Amino acid sequence: MKRVYNFSAGPAVLPEEVLREAADEMLDYRGTGMSVMEMSHRSKAFETIITEAEQDLRELMNIPDNYKVLFLQGGASQQFAMIPMNLMKNKVADYIITGQWAKKAAAEAEKYGKVNRIASSADKTFSYIPDCTDLPVDEDADYVYICENNTIYGTKYRKLPDTKGKILVADVSSCFLSEPVDVTKYGVIYGGVQKNIGPAGMVIVIIREDLITEDVLPGTPTMLQYKIHADAKSLYNTPPAYGIYICGKVFKWLKNMGGLEVMKERNEKKAKLLYDYLDESRLFHGTVEKKDRSLMNVPFVTGNEEMDAKFVKEAKEAGLENLKGHRTVGGMRASIYNAMPYEGVEALVAFMKKFEEEN
Ligand SMILES: *Cc1c(COP(=O)(O)O)cnc(C)c1O
Repeated sequence: MKRVYNFSAGPAVLPEEVLREAADEMLDYRGTGMSVMEMSHRSKAFETIITEAEQDLRELMNIPDNYKVLFLQGGASQQFAMIPMNLMKNKVADYIITGQWAKKAAAEAEKYGKVNRIASSADKTFSYIPDCTDLPVDEDADYVYICENNTIYGTKYRKLPDTKGKILVADVSSCFLSEPVDVTKYGVIYGGVQKNIGPAGMVIVIIREDLITEDVLPGTPTMLQYKIHADAKSLYNTPPAYGIYICGKVFKWLKNMGGLEVMKERNEKKAKLLYDYLDESRLFHGTVEKKDRSLMNVPFVTGNEEMDAKFVKEAKEAGLENLKGHRTVGGMRASIYNAMPYEGVEALVAFMKKFEEEN
């Protein structure tokens, strides 16, 4: 068996310990004689899995009691519709456009109401986070929406926008559990789990209780109502059971590592190693403003497409996989999520130095 260093932006690397444990439990989950994939979501064994997963997540993120945790299907993209359908009471929302994912979310919300794009970094290919200290927030806005870490462009909000009292909704897909957050600053925090936590197809929604109501847009499907899922504790229908099980294991792994403060330190140390090298390299350059750099996704270029392609190819041969940048940006991107060990980034930087000397 050979494991590579996988720098994929998502689905992405998971902790090896978690994968080994899941493998050990594949045929017989703790004496049940079956896999978690095969068991009833109403069984005692699964009830323990989902209850512990929620408890561990609450502990990790210090989630207050007046927030619900929902384990849902449809990935992050389904939230692009679910958020306006459930929250657009005045049919107005403000969006800050910092990349493809925020753009897509805004376009989807526009099907349901008026969308104001109150700030954007499109003028410089989303290479920075716009100034959000004095935004033209609409008086009628039901919420202000951000994508907190921009997976494709490699930017991250270092400070949350001043929403002037409006509810903040954040897509945290690619920075979920990478550092501590103050949940009370948000109305809704959500993320697809395949970047930093578990298998694709699942999304975790952390939502303040008072935002969960029956007063949704007319025609909202049952499956897209937060209240339905909150009342049923994410068991309205068959939930993404195996996904919840793996996420639960990752939560325990994070707790064993020491929690989110420790993850933040580790992530900063990993990112620093790569960024410091990019800042001194003659061949490779980072593409975003230093103050807005993401700890999770690090895009870089040589400035020469052929050289970029050569690098990606040779890196793959050296066991460093999925370094090709997003098709809309080109160049390279190293995603260095929680489960990427420091040694993986060391190996990448060593390879980049060698490549620089040879080219
Ligand atoms: C990957 C990603 C998405 C889309 O996730 P899906 O689960 O594929 O819908 C949305 N937002 C961000 C920030 C992402 O990184």
